[in-house]
Amino acid sequence: MPAARRSNFKACLKCKMLVEPEKEICPNCGGRDFTYEWEGAVIIIDPSKSEIAKLLEIEKPGRYAIRIR
Ligand SMILES: [Zn+2]
Repeated sequence: MPAARRSNFKACLKCKMLVEPEKEICPNCGGRDFTYEWEGAVIIIDPSKSEIAKLLEIEKPGRYAIRIR
């Protein structure tokens, strides 16, 4: 059995943004490499006011994985 997946989203390997499986290109960084092996999710609304965004080096609002395996 593979590890349980928390959602159907896949995470961009470059910027960690979570995107729908049908998308082939990351809308944030243009990356094409994704993984389903990610943990934790944060929704960043205003990166300039978010400590988590600074920690994860997120510059654009969106949904992101906290950790990628
Ligand atoms: Zn990306």
